[in-house]
Amino acid sequence: MSEPNLSSPIVFVGAGPGDPELLTIKGRRLLDQADVIVYAGSLVNPALLDGLSATLHNSASLTLDECIGIMAEAAGQEKKVVRLHTGDPAIFGAIREQMARLDKLHIAYEVVPGVTSATAAAASLKAELTLPEISQTIIITRQAGRTPVPDKEQLRLLAAHQATMLIFLSVGMIDTVVAELTAGGYPTSTPVAVVEKASWPEERKVYGTLATISAVVKKADIKKTAMILVGNVLSGIGKESRLYDKHFSHEFRRGQEK
Ligand code: SAH
Repeated sequence: MSEPNLSSPIVFVGAGPGDPELLTIKGRRLLDQADVIVYAGSLVNPALLDGLSATLHNSASLTLDECIGIMAEAAGQEKKVVRLHTGDPAIFGAIREQMARLDKLHIAYEVVPGVTSATAAAASLKAELTLPEISQTIIITRQAGRTPVPDKEQLRLLAAHQATMLIFLSVGMIDTVVAELTAGGYPTSTPVAVVEKASWPEERKVYGTLATISAVVKKADIKKTAMILVGNVLSGIGKESRLYDKHFSHEFRRGQEK
């Protein structure tokens, strides 16, 4: 069996969006070898933890201090610790505050990325988020709620770009999201999709436009754990990629004369 190439006592691991097979092989190995796992119980699929010998702690009911206390104590006893975060830990993962505490305690850590729910939702829709001549930019953001968003990043300002937008943590505020995006410049005909629990067996997805999506989401009673995707890339009217265009030359293929 291969040796783990991560030697830090604590590893932040991306659990993926839900489907247990959407976990990296490295993440799987670290979970299997862990002595202690602190997992984000609200969103991590418990199936990932089936049959493990590690001591499990659900961070949903823990404060930051308690969470760090558990990890630091285990690391001090030379145990292998995994901090398991949903999707990819770098996106709305609240990992930096934990790392700052570990830095103060001089405890080393590493990060293993995961499949974010952003791309899991796109996969479910069979969408390409960067269609040539439609949008080449993806904005990952959220609507301000109890957690504020910097003024310069208000949805209505970001909307000016009419780029592809992936909005986390906001489906419960769908009316505000729609109002902000419309005020910011997206036409009301802009396609919008909402994917609830992407990659879980109970996944649901609904489609509409900025004019209709609010009513559609409410009718479906989608209130949380959902990705809002916005932009003309969802209309499927994109042009074909130049990479495979027979007249387009690149490093590995000479294009045909027109
Ligand atoms: N780090 C995570 C995001 C955590 S914030 C990631 O990379 O996916 C939690 C938000 O992520 C939810 O409010 C929702 O907007 C989104 N989310 C998480 N899992 C999801 C899933 N399976 N399907 C759709 N959205 C999901």
